[in-house]
Amino acid sequence: MQWDLILVGAGLANGLIAWRLQQVRPELNVLLIEQGEAAGGNHTWSFHHHDLSPEQHQWIAPLVAHSWPGYDVMFPSLTRHIDQPYYTLFSDRFAHRLTEALGDNLRLNCPVAAVSPQRVQLANGETLTARAVIDGRGQPDAPTQRCAWQLFVGQEWRLAHPHGLTRPLLMDATVPQCNAYRFFYLLPLSPDTLLIEDTRFSNAPALNRDDYRAAIKDYAAQRHWTLSALLREESGCLPLTLAGAPPPDSTAQQPCSGMRAGLFHAVTGYSLPLAVRLADAVAGLGIPDAPRVAALTHALAAQQWRSQGFFRLLNRMLFLAGQPDHRWRVMQRFYGLPDETIARFYAGNLTLSDKARILTGKPPVPVFQALRAAFNTGNEQ
Ligand SMILES: Cc1cc2nc3c(=O)[nH]c(=O)nc-3n(C[C@H](O)[C@H](O)[C@H](O)COP(=O)(O)OP(=O)(O)OC[C@H]3O[C@@H](n4cnc5c(N)ncnc54)[C@H](O)[C@@H]3O)c2cc1C
Repeated sequence: MQWDLILVGAGLANGLIAWRLQQVRPELNVLLIEQGEAAGGNHTWSFHHHDLSPEQHQWIAPLVAHSWPGYDVMFPSLTRHIDQPYYTLFSDRFAHRLTEALGDNLRLNCPVAAVSPQRVQLANGETLTARAVIDGRGQPDAPTQRCAWQLFVGQEWRLAHPHGLTRPLLMDATVPQCNAYRFFYLLPLSPDTLLIEDTRFSNAPALNRDDYRAAIKDYAAQRHWTLSALLREESGCLPLTLAGAPPPDSTAQQPCSGMRAGLFHAVTGYSLPLAVRLADAVAGLGIPDAPRVAALTHALAAQQWRSQGFFRLLNRMLFLAGQPDHRWRVMQRFYGLPDETIARFYAGNLTLSDKARILTGKPPVPVFQALRAAFNTGNEQ
C-alpha cells in the first residue's frame, strides 16, 4: 500500500480528520485529495460552544477565525440575548492552515474518478492505494431520505459606516416569511464588515440566488446600512431530514465522512460538531485499515440516525403541519426555553426532560395536523 490513509475531498470533514491526525498521529502517512484549487471550498462554518468538548475546542482553535461571547435572536414577540459563545471558521483560513500543516500530502486540482475502500482512481488515470480510503466528497446529489431544505445566500459586505452590532444575530425572524421559515443571520466580523445571510427553511430545494441577493440589499437598507463593497458570497441548499433509512447503506464497506455519511444535524443541516467527533474517533483507531474505519464511520452514522429520531419528528411537525408562514411561531416558542435546553438542542444531546419541554405547552401548530405530521414517517427506520 502506498498510503496509510487517503482522504478523498478536502472539505470540512476530511480536512478536520487530516488536521487532527497531523496533531496526534504524525507517524501515519495520510494523503488528502481535492478537486478544487483550495481545500474547504467557499464557506463560513459556525458552531455553538456546547457543541464541542473542552479538548475539541483546543484542537480546533487554530482554525477558528471569530468568536463572540453570546448571540441574539429576534422574533415578532420575543427578543432574546443568549450568553453562550459562538464561533466561526472561514474556509480560506482553513485552507491556509491545512496547506501549511500537510505540505505535499495535500493534492489540489486533482479530481477523483472512483473510490473504493482501499483504492482511488484519479481522473488522470493514476491509481493510488491505501490501507483505507475515506470518501468525503460532500453532500450527495440526491438524498435517499425524505427531506426539507435550508436555503440560503450569505454575503460579506463592507459598510460605509459601522453597523453597531457587537455579537451575532442568529435569527432575525421579524421579516416577511415568503412561504417558509425565513430569517436573516448576521455575523459582525469587524466594526464595518458583516456577513448578511437570508435563510429560508423550505419544502422544496429551489434557490433563486437573485431573489436572495435583492432581499439582502432591502434588508440592509431597512437597517440603514450603506453597503459599500461586496467581499464574498456563499450559498447553500442543505437537506433537513424528515424520515427515511439511515445513510449510507450499513452493509456498504466504504468508509465515508461528513455530509456523505449523513453526519449532520437533521434540524439545522450543520455538520461541524459531528465532523469533529469523527476526526477524534479516526485518530483514536490503532491501525486505520479499511474494515476498522468502515465499522467506525458506519457505527457513528447509525448511532446518529437513531439519536436524531426526535429531530426528524420535529422537522415533520415544522414542515408538514400548519402554514409555512407560521413556522416562526415554533422557533419563537423554542427560543423561550432555558439556555441549557437550547445548547443541548444544537449539540444534539437533548435529555428526556428537554424533549418533554419542547413538545409540551400550548402548541404553536394545530394539534391534529401536528399529530398527523408526527406519524407521517413513510419508510422511517
Ligand atoms: C455555504 C455553506 C455554509 C455552511 N455553514 C455551516 C455552518 O456554519 N456550520 C456547520 O456546521 N455546517 C455548515 N454547513 C453545512 C455543512 O457543514 C457543510 O456543507 C460542510 O462543508 C460539509 O462538509 P463535508 O466535508 O461533508 O463536505 P464539503 O465541505 O462540501 O467537502 C467536500 C469536498 O469534496 C470535494 N470533492 C467532491 N468531489 C470530488 C472529486 N470527485 N474529487 C476530488 N474532490 C472532490 C469538493 O470539492 C469539496 O471540497 C454549510 C454549508 C454550506 C454550503
